[in-house]
Order: sequence, then C-alpha cells, then structure tokens
Amino acid sequence: MWWSWESTAPGESRQKLLVYEAAEAVYAHPDLNAARRIIVLAVAVERLRTLCASPVDELTNCVEGVGGMKLIRFGEPGKEKPGVLLNDGTRVDASGFGSDYDEAFFGNGGLAALRRWLEGSGSAARRVAPSTRLGPPICRPSKIVCIGLNFRDHAAESGMEIPQEPVIFFKATTSLVGPNDPVVIPRNATKVDWEVELAVILGKKASYVPKERAHEFVAGYALHNDYSERSFQLERGGQWVKGKSADTFAPLGPFLATGDEIPDPGRLGMWLKVNGEIRQKSTTANMIFDVPTLVSYISQFMTLLPGDVISTGTPAGVGLGMRPPSYLKAGDVVELGIDGLGESRQKLVAYEAAEAVHAHP
Ligand code: ZN
Repeated sequence: MWWSWESTAPGESRQKLLVYEAAEAVYAHPDLNAARRIIVLAVAVERLRTLCASPVDELTNCVEGVGGMKLIRFGEPGKEKPGVLLNDGTRVDASGFGSDYDEAFFGNGGLAALRRWLEGSGSAARRVAPSTRLGPPICRPSKIVCIGLNFRDHAAESGMEIPQEPVIFFKATTSLVGPNDPVVIPRNATKVDWEVELAVILGKKASYVPKERAHEFVAGYALHNDYSERSFQLERGGQWVKGKSADTFAPLGPFLATGDEIPDPGRLGMWLKVNGEIRQKSTTANMIFDVPTLVSYISQFMTLLPGDVISTGTPAGVGLGMRPPSYLKAGDVVELGIDGLGESRQKLVAYEAAEAVHAHP
C-alpha cells in the first residue's frame, strides 16, 4: 500500500477502497512507465482528496482510465465493429467486449470497462488485419458541433473578424466517414476545401459545465478533416451548415485517443498536405479559445451528450485563403495529421463516379 487514509464519514470507506484498488491495479500494470505511474499516483491522490464531491463510477473511470487507449472501429461501412489499437500497432478485435462505441458506451463507464476487458481478454482476442478498412472511431453521435474562426491567421485569411466569443455551427452527423475513405465532391460543388482540426469527443452529458471541470467531460480526441464546400457555405445564404454537411465531409480518426493519451490538447502540432504539398502547419497552442473554454461555452447553450463531437477549428492554409483560391478536384489526395492522433488520407472522387459505384456494386 502506498498511501493511507482515515475515514471521515459513513459511505466514504467503500469509495476510497474502490479508488485504491483501481489505482493499484493500474499502477502495477506492466505497460506503464515510470512517468505514467507517477501520474496514476497523483490522480488517485487528487481523487481521494475531493472524494466527497464525486460518484464512485466517476472515480473508477478516472483512475482506471490512466494508461490510455486508442479506440478504432473496423469493417465495411455501416457494419463496423469496435476494436483497440495497441501501441505496437496491433489491432485488437473488441467485438467480444459486447458494446460499440456509442452514447451508452461513453455514458455508462464504457472506457473503464473496456480497459478491464482488454487487460483480461485482450491477449486472446482476434487480431484485425492491417489492410482492413477503418471506420470512424465512434458510432454516429447526436451532434457534431464545430467552432469557426478559432485561429487568428485563419480568420484573417478568410477576411473575417477575430471573434469575441466562439462561433458555433453544426455539421450533419451523416457526413461522418472513416479516416481514409474517399471524399465525394457533392453535386454542383465547385469549391471543396480542407480543414485539419482537433476533434474532442464527450465522455458524459455536459450542461452548464464550468471551465475548470471541463476535462472531466472529455472522453478523448481524434483527428478530423472538416471538409467544406465554400460556395454552399458562403454564397447560398443562411448558415454555414449548408456547406459543411455533405456525405463524407467528416473523415474522423484513425482512432480516438483517450484523454490520458493526450495530457495537453493545447500543444499539439497539426498539418495537412494536398497532393504532397504542405498547406496547413500549426499547433493547437494557436487556438483563440482552448478546449476547456469550448466545452464550457457550448454547454451554456445546449446539452452535449456522451459521444458528441466538438471540432475545434482550423488554422490558416485552406484553399479559400490562397491567392487565388484553390479548391479540390477529383483525383486529388489530402493527407493530414495531429501529434498523438495519427494520420489520415482521403482521395477526392466526383459525385457521378461515387453514385455509379453505389448503383452497381
Ligand atoms: Zn472547421
């Protein structure tokens, strides 16, 4: 035992025992290096200190989650199965765990349960071939909330004011696809553009969350390309959602990294290339409004549900900002990445070609 306590109120002992057991199990895990062991210890001590304010599952979730995981979903579109990507690149089939990565999974302590399953049954579970298609790392969420103009240089290149408060818009959840799926240029589109973004995935229901507690509501992070058809977005009246929501306009992944994998989402390098040429290169440190601010801010206006996505905005270097503007055409290849969140690659295809594939499989 590496700390002790004195019980101060009835009911607390049981909670403390759970924290202790969970922390000790994680602390002793062979995958943890010295630095992570210290983090486990620090988190456990902090949770013990603030025990009175926290329900038991929150505590075990928090403590057991330390060590981190990368969640993937694999298989044919619409028939994806859950999996876990190990640090050595092995893809573990997590079908045996019994739940896909949906609202109920995130909302009911699924991450901690998955961690336990992985430790107990992961080594015997089926491996997934590296060639197998990856889907988005989460099931279709209730909302994809996007932040506009969250980098000064991107606001400037777009000819827009630096926002005083976060600009919020939606992306249709049907736009969600796998990280390396083809991106379909919509009918009548002429200005398809790219936007590398850090996506935040909610771990629990969030309403009126104070900024200081925002991290408790985050399940993890993923790489996102917020594709946009600028003519629909800016020249057809109404809201931006029109140019953001076409099918395939939200490639997410390759994986969801749990919060413990990304200790500081405010210091992640991000980049994007078109046909091999670098177009965007920045860091999340350049965001005007950081992740805790955004989680808190959005939750003042709507309830965020477990599994919901917040896409936190893009830096300069989009096609709209080039002189003259330059947009994507069929055959173009977009590659992007964020530190700790992997890389993705999309090939652009014409609407007619994609329709023909679906009509004659
Ligand atoms: Zn965006």
